[in-house]
Amino acid sequence: MRYVGDIYRPPSEAYSLLVQVTIGCSHNKCTFCNMYKNKQFKVRDPEEVLEDLAWARAHYNRVQRIFLCDGDALCLANHKLIRILDYIKENFPECERVTTYGRATAALAKTEEELEELRDHGLSMVYLGAESGSQKVLEMVNKGETREQLIDGVRKLEDAGIKTSVTFISGLAGQEMWEEHAIETGKMITEMNASYVSLLTLMLQSPAPMLDDWAAGRFNKLTAEEVLAETCLMLQHANPTKSCVFRSNHASNYVSLRGNLPEDKESMLASLKRCMEDRGLLKDERFRML
Ligand code: SF4
Repeated sequence: MRYVGDIYRPPSEAYSLLVQVTIGCSHNKCTFCNMYKNKQFKVRDPEEVLEDLAWARAHYNRVQRIFLCDGDALCLANHKLIRILDYIKENFPECERVTTYGRATAALAKTEEELEELRDHGLSMVYLGAESGSQKVLEMVNKGETREQLIDGVRKLEDAGIKTSVTFISGLAGQEMWEEHAIETGKMITEMNASYVSLLTLMLQSPAPMLDDWAAGRFNKLTAEEVLAETCLMLQHANPTKSCVFRSNHASNYVSLRGNLPEDKESMLASLKRCMEDRGLLKDERFRML
């Protein structure tokens, strides 16, 4: 397999075959993100992608999951994505799911029929980074997508039968806007009705522009206890009408939670309160990572 630069994937794709369909991120301007800052975005030639898949077929007996990376592979024209999906269907009959990263605006740029076509050709799930439910915070971090676009993009994918897994970032709004971030994120989870929601916790690594803001005192990070208080407030406002799997099992989180919303909300809140009373239950700062 040929890879350009560092490769990122969601925790649940740890055992997936990773295939680069794009290089870098089509937006690449979020101030907290260091992932693709040194990559110039481009869509890979589908021929090259098929060659990589052929190499993988020749070397791996059993491939149950395939993840299409880098950022926003959903932005590919449908005919390009379908060529790749069809190749997978034909050559990896044992593959149970094909997933990708995508931006809400990429989903909104496709018609309902185009999304249904992708579903029919085997795209099972899209991972989206919403980061915050607050419009003010989205603007602050230069997300390049509005609250409304994020909600509509997720709903459009779910309505087309493609599951969504949406990530939010604890601590993203810092000391200044944590309550707004928590409440609006809870409300966004309610309005989106995504199949999966996950939390990671802010860690700033070079060359993320926000790192400079923090170093210059323009941004004040939350303490571990404050992150838990923010998560409690967010969960209190999260009441999706369709059952949603909620996880905070990312390596950056202080506490690992897993449950269904809204059914398991009270037990997850109780776990958080126990952790707030006993700091020994929190992950040590040294063991957190992105
Ligand atoms: S957070 Fe996602 S959309 Fe924003 S720059 Fe990073 S990869 Fe791109």
